[in-house]
Amino acid sequence: MCIRDSYTARANLDPLVIEGFGAGGQLMLTTDVENYPVFPEGIQGPEMMQTFRDQAERFGATTVAEDVTRVDFSERPFGVWVDDEEYRAQSVIIATGATARWLGLPSEERLRGFGVSSCATCDGFFFKDKPMVVVGGGDSAAEEALFLARMASRVTLVHRRDELRASKIMAERVLAHDKIDVRWNAVVEEVVGDPAVEAVRVRDVETGELSDIPSAAMFVAIGHDPTTGLFEGQIELDDEGYVVTDGTRTSVEGVFAAGDVQDVVYRQAITAAGSGCMATIDAERWLEETAAAAEAVGAHNE
Ligand code: NAP
Repeated sequence: MCIRDSYTARANLDPLVIEGFGAGGQLMLTTDVENYPVFPEGIQGPEMMQTFRDQAERFGATTVAEDVTRVDFSERPFGVWVDDEEYRAQSVIIATGATARWLGLPSEERLRGFGVSSCATCDGFFFKDKPMVVVGGGDSAAEEALFLARMASRVTLVHRRDELRASKIMAERVLAHDKIDVRWNAVVEEVVGDPAVEAVRVRDVETGELSDIPSAAMFVAIGHDPTTGLFEGQIELDDEGYVVTDGTRTSVEGVFAAGDVQDVVYRQAITAAGSGCMATIDAERWLEETAAAAEAVGAHNE
């Protein structure tokens, strides 16, 4: 969570970035980022996040490398706590992101970054002309499979049931695609390979039979969980736990949200950064309007 970045710092808003123990978020787990402008040769995710931090600090943003433990948005200035340490802010920008769900297999963890990924647009290109597996049956999995089919020699979608959860139109596209096979009623038992993915071992949930799908990569697309537990009861969240926004405005005036915590559709580094910029501009304007309104009331009462 943060009151944010180089935009707020350059606007002289005295921003404090409470970046949490997981600072940098999903990009800290990403190896090469090749789809972010300004880095024509690509950049490692952690290096990119360090660059972002350096830039924010250059303009005076202060960072706190701890997790927020409680917030109170019921009155202004808003309260934000890190254990017993209390911070007060006229405006808050929530950018706590989302976490990709994983299957929870030891082999999946061992091969993460070596063929196991949760982001086709980030990593698909590295396995060009090779067979790839996508796990999941929702819109994310369908989208990943369709995207990867443009570059893979073959895509196998592994789904645990006999019917896709994805919207009808996405499901139809997947099923009609001549480069995509669906392995129905199958769950991943193990990702095979050392030091990189060579195959995905699946178990047929009806027969119990094990089989290996030769593959250079396994993309896990079984959903994301937004990091919003902290804000339950404080601002409006949707059924999936994402922050409900109008632009970047949340249900509480003066609290804004940016990035994956409020975005179920795009979830890219560049779109998250862009919405961070939007939230900062919105926060700055809102602070100006609020200050102007308070001044007008003060003048009226004199
Ligand atoms: P989702 O709709 O929750 O689908 C998750 C899929 O993963 C389901 O098919 C589920 O299987 C499967 N799954 C979950 N846990 C699993 C596990 N442990 N092992 C194996 N399979 C597992 O998530 P999503 O696809 O990320 O979509 C989230 C939301 O974003 C949806 O509302 C979706 O419509 C939206 N979205 C929209 C677009 C678009 O419009 N272009 C793109 C992406 C996402 P079951 O079906 O058996 O539950």
